[in-house]
Amino acid sequence: MEARLEQALTRAGRQRKEITIVAVTKLFPAAVFQQAYSLGLHHFGENYVQEFESKYSHVSSLQHARFHFIGHLQSNKARRATEIFHVLQTIDTPKLARRLNEAGKALDVMIEVKLAEEEAKAGAAPQEVPALIDAIGACPNLRLLGLMTMPPWSEDAEASRPYFRRLRELAGRNGLGGLSMGMSHDFEAAVEEGATMIRIGTALFGRRSKPA
Ligand SMILES: *Cc1c(COP(=O)(O)O)cnc(C)c1O
Repeated sequence: MEARLEQALTRAGRQRKEITIVAVTKLFPAAVFQQAYSLGLHHFGENYVQEFESKYSHVSSLQHARFHFIGHLQSNKARRATEIFHVLQTIDTPKLARRLNEAGKALDVMIEVKLAEEEAKAGAAPQEVPALIDAIGACPNLRLLGLMTMPPWSEDAEASRPYFRRLRELAGRNGLGGLSMGMSHDFEAAVEEGATMIRIGTALFGRRSKPA
C-alpha cells in the first residue's frame, strides 16, 4: 500500500504529507483500529452509525484518532453521528447540513458529489454544489473541508480517472481544497488527479467478510 502510494506520488510530483489516508474499518473489529493506530494511521472511515457505535467504546480512547463517516447518513441517525464522528463526508442536502448543525458540536464536513447517473447512489448533483456550500456556510458549527466522491464501480482504475478529474475541477471552481477520492483499487489515479484524502480498506486490512 505505501509502496503503491509512493509511486503514485512520484509520478504526480506530490509529497506524502499532502495525502491523508482514511483507513476504512467497516466490518472489521475494534482491535484492527488499535493495530492501525499503533502503526501511525489516525484517520478511520466507517459506513454505518450503528456498527461504529458498537466499537466506539473500544476506540474512543485513541487520543489522536479522527473518525470519518463515509456512508449514507439517515436523518434519524444524524444526531448520534455527530456525537461519535469528527468528520462527516457525505453531506448531500442543505437539510442534512442544518440537522448536523443543530446538534451544536463543531464538525468538519464534506459534500458528497454524484458524478454519474446511478439510481441507487447518494450524493448531490454537481449543479447543486454551490447552494450546498452556501447552506453549510450558514451553519456556524460546520466547517467545510471539500468534496468527496465514489465513482461507479469498475475493475479498471482508469475508469475512475475522469470522475476524479471532474471532482477536482468542481472543487477548484468553488474554491475548495479538500478532495476525498480513491479507494483500494483506484487510489493511484486519485492521487495523480489531486486527491488529498484516500479511503482505503481492502488494501490495508484484506477482504471484508461481508460485502458492504
Ligand atoms: C468501503 C468503502 C471504501 C473502502 O473500499 P476498499 O475498496 O476496501 O478500499 C472507501 N470509500 C467508501 C465510501 C466505502 O464505502
